[in-house]
Amino acid sequence: MAQVLILGGGFGGLAAASEIRRLLPDAEVVVVDRTDRFFMGFAKLWDLAGIRPLDEGTVSLRRLADRGVRFVQAEITRIDPQARRVETSEGALEADALLVALGAGAPPAHRELLASPGAFDLYDAGQLPGIRRALDEIDGGAVLVAILGVPLKCPPAPFEAALIVDELLRGRGVRDDVRVAVATPQPITMPVAGRDASQYVAGHLEGRGIELLTQRAVSGVDAGRRVVQFGNGEEFPYRVLLGVPAVAPPPVVRQSPLAAASGWIEPDRHTLRTAFDRVYAVGDCTVVPTAQFALPKAGVFAAAEGEVAARNIAGDFAGGGEDASFDGRGFCFLELPGRRVAFVEGNFYAEAGPDVHLTDADEAQFSRKQGYEQERLAAWLG
Ligand SMILES: Cc1cc2nc3c(=O)[nH]c(=O)nc-3n(C[C@H](O)[C@H](O)[C@H](O)COP(=O)(O)OP(=O)(O)OC[C@H]3O[C@@H](n4cnc5c(N)ncnc54)[C@H](O)[C@@H]3O)c2cc1C
Repeated sequence: MAQVLILGGGFGGLAAASEIRRLLPDAEVVVVDRTDRFFMGFAKLWDLAGIRPLDEGTVSLRRLADRGVRFVQAEITRIDPQARRVETSEGALEADALLVALGAGAPPAHRELLASPGAFDLYDAGQLPGIRRALDEIDGGAVLVAILGVPLKCPPAPFEAALIVDELLRGRGVRDDVRVAVATPQPITMPVAGRDASQYVAGHLEGRGIELLTQRAVSGVDAGRRVVQFGNGEEFPYRVLLGVPAVAPPPVVRQSPLAAASGWIEPDRHTLRTAFDRVYAVGDCTVVPTAQFALPKAGVFAAAEGEVAARNIAGDFAGGGEDASFDGRGFCFLELPGRRVAFVEGNFYAEAGPDVHLTDADEAQFSRKQGYEQERLAAWLG
């Protein structure tokens, strides 16, 4: 019986597990993750916005057993791609095919910056209660959403968060007393999504009186004075700082022979194969080059890549046949206040840079976003 080992039970790993289960009903499929639950990143912002508590969008990975997939909750400590073998806190595991979907973490330096009083990691679900409390109490000063470095996960999320902050403060009747700003080291809001989508976001920030501070790289946080320092010498006094760390490769990936000099895995961008036989890598733990940048770190890409890798794993076992190929197409739900979503869609592998189209925000697209989540959760863990 073929054995397939999937490292990581996030977007990429779950999409792959579901597809392999479908294509190889007799294979033994194992998913390993340190956590025993899954939720989509945007569910954190729905919690912050008061749309839905995070718990309601969270599903136990133990439900994989109902689909005939073995789940092992363990810390992966070593990956040997040559032998397709991993060491974990629960012992060693081996397989005929290995798929690495271990996501991305945050650089320690960014975590340290956000250990200051009044500062939070916007992307850390555990900090949501503290963020909510801080936004419930603020009655003056400034809230700064700061992108601490690039690349970052889900490039629109910091701007969506700034709009949520604005909405919450309006709801409390204190918006006129609180300055809201969003700072990015980049020249426009979302270079990876192109100029049109970037201008669309900038227009919505402006319409809400949210200051957009571009080309501001955070160089430090003076915790005593509650001041963010930018590389250009400017300072920004804050009452609440919502920081968005850049991404860093998971240490277990960086220390493995799979990592390129960058520390990330660089698989073939169409087949998701690595240099090792029957070893695949998908999602945020990879760097996939595009004409100008790299594929954005987003769940939709991780899931699409996971499905392609799963098809190629099935093909490896069947022998012969054509490779499945990821075409670089992807989309993003750009959420605005009032349960409205703009849909950004396109070909991120286009030769001349991302060929991306944007539809204006409406409630129907919000329903589509809800449907995306519900359909995937049902397919992967239902
Ligand atoms: C606030 C926010 C909003 C977002 N909104 C969107 C959105 O609207 N659309 C979108 O497409 N994307 C969005 N994203 C981004 C999306 O969440 C990520 O890009 C996506 O999760 C990447 O999928 P992945 O499978 O590569 O990694 P992940 O989903 O992060 O999964 C990796 C898994 O590996 C596990 N792991 C890592 N190291 C180890 C180890 N050593 N041992 C055991 N387990 C390990 C982790 O626990 C994790 O479960 C958002 C992210 C955030 C933070």
